[in-house]
Amino acid sequence: MNVLKEILAMIKNYDTIIIHRHQRPDPDAIGSQVGLAEILRESFPKKQIFQAGGPVEGLEFLAEMDTVADECYKGALVIVTDTANAPRISDERYSLGDKLIKMDHHPNDDPYGDLVWVNPKASSCSEIIADFYHENQTELVMNNKAARLLYAGIVGDTGRFLYPSTTPHTLNVAAELMTYDFNTAELNRELEQIPMSVAKLAGYVYQNIDVDENGAAKVTLPQSLMDEYGIVDSETAAIVSLPGVIDEVVAWAIFVEQPEGYYRVRLRSKGPIINELAKQHHGGGHPLASGANAKDDKEVAVIYQKIQQLCKQYKK
Ligand code: AMP
Repeated sequence: MNVLKEILAMIKNYDTIIIHRHQRPDPDAIGSQVGLAEILRESFPKKQIFQAGGPVEGLEFLAEMDTVADECYKGALVIVTDTANAPRISDERYSLGDKLIKMDHHPNDDPYGDLVWVNPKASSCSEIIADFYHENQTELVMNNKAARLLYAGIVGDTGRFLYPSTTPHTLNVAAELMTYDFNTAELNRELEQIPMSVAKLAGYVYQNIDVDENGAAKVTLPQSLMDEYGIVDSETAAIVSLPGVIDEVVAWAIFVEQPEGYYRVRLRSKGPIINELAKQHHGGGHPLASGANAKDDKEVAVIYQKIQQLCKQYKK
């Protein structure tokens, strides 16, 4: 039996299913998590299906989380979407269930769970959930809500079908999701819309980006600047891709200082592989889109030097 069929067989065995995703959620985390939840609610009305995790941080237009009592985990099946490493799962009660399933599209560095379905070639975890639906179409039911969420996840993780992870299959999946009844144009607008404060920060990013002769770029956002612009960490998602449109830029890091004093490092690349570098600094992710952490300015400098090295090698 293939894994997608095994996952359905396990789902059928449980009355309560609780679905988690990663901390600091993005549209694909929420899209895959709640998209799956909606498919299961529509397909199995007698089962109790919950979506669990911390605050959705500005993505309320997609979905909100359920309040899930600790007792619900007893004898429940837990599914985690879009989360490569167990420590990044939101929230930590994911381990309280009877069985655990991992469904993801990041490199499978931490294969937690009793059943694991990971496809790093998929553009997004939402694409994987759509594949899961397809594989089991005779027993599962898609609805408008699920289609909207999965579509949002795909648009989010492919940068509107721009990134190299976008395949003909991705476009086929998105096209089919569009046949359901939801307002694609409005959803795309909601995903793109930024507050004035973030627009001003975008100006700062373009004014202050440093790029070396090999295309290694960096921008540092100190906490004092975040306060001045009235920005919180989750809002930096909207500016991470901006350096990518600059001709001279090959790979880049945005160092976002956190209230605790360490830096969240958001890494992106047009060619050089950056996830190995991310792993060396308490992070990970995709070959061309990763995240890491730097404890101080010294580690920030070390990470940037490594990006410079990668860009230099890439140019050769
Ligand atoms: P971000 O810059 O947060 O949008 O992250 C880009 C990619 O890197 C996503 O696929 C994340 O899952 C991954 N990532 C970010 N931070 C971490 C981390 N601390 N550990 C592992 N993977 C991460």
